[in-house]
Amino acid sequence: MVPTVHGRRLGKVPYVELADGRVQGVVSSGSAGERVYVSSVSADSRTLSCATNNNRPCGGLRGAPCKHIRSLIDEACRHYGAERVAAYLRMDAGQDAKDALMGLQGPVEPGPTGVVFTRFLRYLSYLEHPGTTAPIPEMHWFPAGRSA
Ligand SMILES: [Zn+2]
Repeated sequence: MVPTVHGRRLGKVPYVELADGRVQGVVSSGSAGERVYVSSVSADSRTLSCATNNNRPCGGLRGAPCKHIRSLIDEACRHYGAERVAAYLRMDAGQDAKDALMGLQGPVEPGPTGVVFTRFLRYLSYLEHPGTTAPIPEMHWFPAGRSA
């Protein structure tokens, strides 16, 4: 597992990782400010998964990546590089790794929403060290005081 923190657009995709044979992460909702989606693409069958943190399936995911998965892939490419992401998903994409990733077609199955979200919450807790009591603007959507 390769946790990522720096140099990314945390407001849109606060968490992305290449782990457990998947590109997976947490994507904030484009419309409802407080909702987040847990999205993933698996390496073995390119299974696409997207659901809210309350495990409600994403309505926009029908065989092709929904906007959350597209955001997730975009962010993973930004952080790891498209070639590395494609290689992690065992795609033979060559120069057009990013295009290939965005054009993924795969079966839709429920993903490891709870596992990913729990890891994300643990990551958030890393931020809660002494001296940073000020609100973190990127995390304004996060429902403080509620546990998973
Ligand atoms: Zn989605």
